[in-house]
Amino acid sequence: MNNLKHLTKTIYNQANPSMTNILIIGAGPTGIGAAYRLWQRKEEDWLLCEKEDHLGGLAASFRDEKGFTWDIGGHVMFSHYEYFDDFINHMLGDAYISHLREAYIWMLDRWIPYPFQNNLRYLPEKIQEECLKGLIEDRLKPEEARNFKEWTYAVFGEAVSRYFMDPYNFKVWAHPLEEMCKEWIGERVSVVDYKRILSNIIHKRDDVAWGPNNQFKFPLHGGTGGLFSPASKLFGQKLLLNRELEKIYWKEKIAVFKDKSEIRYDKLVTTLPLDLLCKMVEPSCEDIENASRNLVFTSGYIIGIGLKKRLNSRRCWMYFPQDDSPFYRVTNFGWYSCNNVPDGDTEQYSSYMCETSYSSFKKVSKDEITEKTIDGLVNSRLLSKDDISKIISTYIIDVKHSYPVPGLKRNKALSIIQPWLEERDIFSRGRFGGWKYEVGNMDHSVMTGREIVDRIIDNTEESVYKI
Ligand SMILES: Cc1cc2nc3c(=O)[nH]c(=O)nc-3n(C[C@H](O)[C@H](O)[C@H](O)COP(=O)(O)OP(=O)(O)OC[C@H]3O[C@@H](n4cnc5c(N)ncnc54)[C@H](O)[C@@H]3O)c2cc1C
Repeated sequence: MNNLKHLTKTIYNQANPSMTNILIIGAGPTGIGAAYRLWQRKEEDWLLCEKEDHLGGLAASFRDEKGFTWDIGGHVMFSHYEYFDDFINHMLGDAYISHLREAYIWMLDRWIPYPFQNNLRYLPEKIQEECLKGLIEDRLKPEEARNFKEWTYAVFGEAVSRYFMDPYNFKVWAHPLEEMCKEWIGERVSVVDYKRILSNIIHKRDDVAWGPNNQFKFPLHGGTGGLFSPASKLFGQKLLLNRELEKIYWKEKIAVFKDKSEIRYDKLVTTLPLDLLCKMVEPSCEDIENASRNLVFTSGYIIGIGLKKRLNSRRCWMYFPQDDSPFYRVTNFGWYSCNNVPDGDTEQYSSYMCETSYSSFKKVSKDEITEKTIDGLVNSRLLSKDDISKIISTYIIDVKHSYPVPGLKRNKALSIIQPWLEERDIFSRGRFGGWKYEVGNMDHSVMTGREIVDRIIDNTEESVYKI
């Protein structure tokens, strides 16, 4: 227990839990990661509150009336950490499917293997030449770039940026690339290896193995959410669903919920979006509220298209930089697991999960997005006109907080908000709790949940989330 014994001794009453030592808000991967660590450490005095009636957060999955399963956007489960591997093994056992990534880009009327810059040989000759010229031309050094747009030009040259990086990234981020910083990039964008690019062209070789997610596991049952749902059995009555946090009285250390219930805590770990959290603290703080206005985000529509049609394709997912489709990515979701289609019958059924982002810079009509998605699938040759009659299910998920944009003012904002909260024993972590896209995947989330618990109890340093 170490430091825990120095914390206020609380009375834990399972029937009416109104006091707890560590209170976790949000049962997405970060909150689950924190709770799982407490469970592993055999700690008794904690609670996990979630506003929805299910766990999983943005990594939850849903089954529609026709029997298709949908994720909140294409989730690829890959891991940078042994601890997360062990978590997966504990949750799934052997109930998973292993996939080799087959990712493609649809543009100029053809499929180009991902990553684009390593497979230039698929381009028409003139464009291939422009891209190669752009790569060897003198230009800004990446370290001199002041924003993401300048960085893409510095790294990939003018033509690769113009044909692919600019349009694709605007479709994903729905924000001007000039307003994004470059510090988040790391392994998220495949950079340039000139010798490899030339050798691929000369030897007519497909280069598809780049990156951390070239092999990935997928739960056999329950979509991506199938990874997290087994955790509820471990947490028992410490997991409180349908509990939406509304206010935090930080001086008294009391969390107040929408249903007017209250929980007194000693340490608060929250995973809900940080911009919203800044408005929940009472007494309020103008400095953090002002800083939180510089935390920008992308929203998204996830459109599921369920088909009564066999799909003979091993493609996992596809990227779409062109404006003849609204989506930036489509996942061949029936291929991930047969259980994502009705009766597990991929001989008869298939499904596409299509993601379109939106923001004040990129407005998208919710009323029209399903129809435009179907048009986009036809324009990209994923569906023929005849296939439209084979669509037996359409599903829409509107995700308000989808991507935490690494905006130019993000780091400054975090350096104001996080210390203020932590001085008051409030620890905000996770994709939107920490607002760092570079550590916003499921493995990072589980790890930041684990590390914040270890820090609270043992005073150890966190390594994944750094302010
Ligand atoms: C489109 C998309 C694609 C993605 N692709 C991948 C991928 O390929 N690979 C990968 O590893 N990850 C991917 N992710 C990221 C993955 O979903 C996140 O890592 C993860 O869900 C973040 O977990 P979290 O717990 O930090 O936040 P969340 O999942 O957002 O969980 C926060 C939880 O807090 C709850 N909550 C919010 N407000 C309150 C309140 N007031 N009171 C109580 N509870 C509240 C929410 O309901 C939610 O359950 C993707 C995400 C998106 C949106």
